[in-house]
Amino acid sequence: MKPLRVIPPPYIQYLDEFFNSIELPYRQRLARIRQRIVLRYQEYENKHRLDTLEALHAQTWIASQKEALLYCYDGDTVDVSVPRDTLINRIHQLQPAVSKEKCQYCMLSEPKSIDHFLPKSIFPEFAVLPLNLFPCCQYCNSKKFTFWRRNGSRRIINFAIDNVEVARFLYCEIEYDPRGARVEFELRRHHSISPRLFGIIEGHFMRLGLFDRYKDAATGPISEAQSLLRNSFTGGFKFIRRSILLRHANSQEEVYGINFWRAAVFRALAESREFLRAD
Ligand SMILES: [Zn+2]
Repeated sequence: MKPLRVIPPPYIQYLDEFFNSIELPYRQRLARIRQRIVLRYQEYENKHRLDTLEALHAQTWIASQKEALLYCYDGDTVDVSVPRDTLINRIHQLQPAVSKEKCQYCMLSEPKSIDHFLPKSIFPEFAVLPLNLFPCCQYCNSKKFTFWRRNGSRRIINFAIDNVEVARFLYCEIEYDPRGARVEFELRRHHSISPRLFGIIEGHFMRLGLFDRYKDAATGPISEAQSLLRNSFTGGFKFIRRSILLRHANSQEEVYGINFWRAAVFRALAESREFLRAD
């Protein structure tokens, strides 16, 4: 997991691109609430900067206003799809190679979808606010759905706010058996991770079902580790086999972040006497 980049402000210019291209009935409806949206954008930006997004309350919009706001993102005409697709492409293009390759929410799949961090069904005014849009995979997007806070506390990682590289928090333990391995993942709080951030990380992992998804996928890196050792000269020495696995974990972490689940599997295998002994 690595931070995601966000389009820099000012954000009103993007809103105005929608205003200028959207069909007339919607345009008129939006024009009447433009000032209100501008104020909401400012509120979002302030709370984003102060990391107090969870204090943002939903506002009431009448049905026709909500429809026009959501149309900016969901509308299917050419008029609205031009500014929307331009914006979405820009968000994807802005990301470093690693975040173009993998969904940072899970580190499993390609980020072919866009998550509305604050759900657009509850906060329709943020449907096309660049600061609220993050690339992620379809699966994470549907698992997260409208969830992002619970009891007034944020419970999903915001990859533009939270420093997920501050310390290692994802660990794997493996009881290796050549006929099948028992794999468990867990989170541990390093002292440099605040209890609040740790709660956010826990909420994120629970909601997106990451422990189970990693367990299901763990046969991949286990086979990869087996093949890596088979193709390296180790002389049968455990300490050499171990150092090969750790070196591989380190290089994966350099690319994908220190909480990359595949690297955690390699670290766990490096600590498994049974795996180091195995042929
Ligand atoms: Zn994902």
